[in-house]
Amino acid sequence: MSRARVLLLNAALGPLDYRVPHGMAVAPGSIVVAPLGPRQLTGVVWEPEHMPSDAEVGDNRLRNLVAVHDTPPLKPELRRLVEWTADYYLAPPAAVLRMALPSSSALEGGRTVLEYRATGRVPERLTPQRAQALERIGERQGLVRELALIADVSDGVIRGLVKSGAIEPVEVSLDTPFDQPDPDHAPPALSPEQQAAATRLAEAVDARRFQPFLLDGVTGSGKTEVYFEAIAAALRAGRQTLVLLPEIALTEPFLRRFAARFGVLPVAWHSDLRQSQRRRAWRAIASGEAKVVVGARSALFLPYAALGLIVVDEAHESSFKQEEGVAYHARDVAVMRGRFEELPVILASATPAIETRHQVELGRYEEIRLPSRFGGAQLPDMAAINLVQDPPPRGHWLAPSLVQAIEETLARGEQVLLFLNRRGYAPLTLCRHCGHRFQCPNCTAWLVEHRLVRRLQCHHCGLIATPPEQCPECKAEDSLVACGPGVERIADEVGLLFPDAARAIVTSDTIWSPAKAAEFVARMEAGEISIVIGTQLVTKGYHFPNLTLVGVVDADLALAGGDLRAAERTFQQIAQVAGRAGRGTKPGRVFVQTHDPSAPVIEALVSGDAESFYAAETEARHEAGAPPFGRLAAIIVSSEDSQAATETARLIGRTAPGGEGMHVFGPAPAPLAMLRGRHRHRLLVHAARTFDVQQAIRGWLGALDWPKSVRVAVDVDPYSFL
Ligand code: ADP
Ligand code: ZN
Repeated sequence: MSRARVLLLNAALGPLDYRVPHGMAVAPGSIVVAPLGPRQLTGVVWEPEHMPSDAEVGDNRLRNLVAVHDTPPLKPELRRLVEWTADYYLAPPAAVLRMALPSSSALEGGRTVLEYRATGRVPERLTPQRAQALERIGERQGLVRELALIADVSDGVIRGLVKSGAIEPVEVSLDTPFDQPDPDHAPPALSPEQQAAATRLAEAVDARRFQPFLLDGVTGSGKTEVYFEAIAAALRAGRQTLVLLPEIALTEPFLRRFAARFGVLPVAWHSDLRQSQRRRAWRAIASGEAKVVVGARSALFLPYAALGLIVVDEAHESSFKQEEGVAYHARDVAVMRGRFEELPVILASATPAIETRHQVELGRYEEIRLPSRFGGAQLPDMAAINLVQDPPPRGHWLAPSLVQAIEETLARGEQVLLFLNRRGYAPLTLCRHCGHRFQCPNCTAWLVEHRLVRRLQCHHCGLIATPPEQCPECKAEDSLVACGPGVERIADEVGLLFPDAARAIVTSDTIWSPAKAAEFVARMEAGEISIVIGTQLVTKGYHFPNLTLVGVVDADLALAGGDLRAAERTFQQIAQVAGRAGRGTKPGRVFVQTHDPSAPVIEALVSGDAESFYAAETEARHEAGAPPFGRLAAIIVSSEDSQAATETARLIGRTAPGGEGMHVFGPAPAPLAMLRGRHRHRLLVHAARTFDVQQAIRGWLGALDWPKSVRVAVDVDPYSFL
């Protein structure tokens, strides 16, 4: 009689034991189908000693496993990573496992799927819905469900179009092989500095040992070209590489550069993939056929057959931190994966995080520096514009000296980038008669006006409202005024100042897929755009040689939040966006608008003295015992029932363990006191570096009970304090 412990893909369940029926062969890592009540679920066989169960069942009560999937078993290295992640971030192991097996359909046997696409034939009966569907679908292809989502119509409308002949089925093979990148396709001639860096990284790939690197190079120094050589080394050794990028919008420039260097596209993994693409990619990753995978953080847990290298590009980016579900930091988990799999991990950044620099100082990460731009390009000239002395006219946001610089740049036929990290037209709308402010009913947040689509929108819960004709409070007509600028408002101002200059707004509202990003890049390169107004989405990755002027509209914005990383984040953001200027042969200029030019972060940016800024920030963290010198964990209590949330938060606060090495602050209402209709309270645990916070929190919360309506989430190493 043989039994197997199985971790099912259901976060609410712990591991369960099953009987392995006669003739079925399973081993730890096998992906199996197991019965649960009347249902069947996918799961993975685990070593019982690594996955203790608190509900062991006698042999006679075991149910039989149903089947074993015909896919490679999850390797022990990945199983250890799942355990570590669950343990460190206090998450259910099954929730982590689900990130390794996100496409359960990929496990199913079928080698083909039926997708649908438009034929160009116009159906006899062209209802408005059908017309909308055909217009939105355009050249796209996908399952009925996917096309319905794209077109914003029901599945029935799509099926009707299939019947009418306007849409036809196409058979797509999931086993079409991916093209193999060629390490010798078009290697660049590296500068001596780049060559030394590339050689060291390639050596580390060949050594097949765990080694984290910080590839610290100024913007335009050729970090990408350098780590491409490490990828080439992995390719020659027949091993896979994972490249993590912070935004899917960045994959587009990356894909093109990759194809230029290696002759073919890498395999992409992100949320915008069709189901068939996802299935095909997952299988190729698990078989080892996908040699280079580029993706967002969700690519980190996939079951690579023969991983040889991980690159985390723009490693300082906070979007590597996942805030929903398992609250993990992909940069940190990437390093752990490198450790379990015995391979080098390259963290590339022009503005490394203080946490990462600290690891270098401790000697755990090896630093490789590229201090100058490639090809003699100079770093741009930076200047602060003091908004107190040189203010924009009333109701405008661009200071006269910045406007003049834009004029000069346009006159030379060069391109301008204006950076403001705020989507929409205005962050707040109010009634000038009664002062009524438009707030989201579900969140502690103002509704943001998006004038282009005539909507008020909550950026937290997605609520959408139409701007009313009159004030809902005092009924005054035409009394609503927009307060403060968003990118759309800056675009309007630019339009009035430079009516002949073509503008583009680049935010997640306009660039929401790699295809949209490609379109933007093409228009920039063709010179069809003169002025870009964008959020942090345009601050990184792009290389436009004719872009020579960057204006930071409001440098004080990111400092306002005041959390422990505010100054660091401001520095990174402005240094990154400045890095878009003057990347070619023409020199670049950067103007930073601020009310406080003497703030240390602004002075550091303007003087170029990053070192003393980092030193002062690091010292301040040291004194406060803040990360990386101490540990933080946040406990977020939320419920639709306000009283239940308050009481549970108090209960958790009251029972906080005291004593050496750990201190608990709170509970207090969260700054975002309401989010998506849930009332929120926070506690913050501060502990010494050496203290086992996870253990303490597990013991503490594990002994408590709270109503079902209350959710208690733990965020280890938090980045958001809202
Ligand atoms: P970073 O990632 O450090 O900002 P990139 O890798 O994007 O820098 O390089 C900046 C630009 O210089 C890119 O267009 C890149 O193709 C070019 N470049 C860098 N190194 C070389 C090289 N050795 N040969 C040719 N072009 C290079
Ligand atoms: Zn909301």
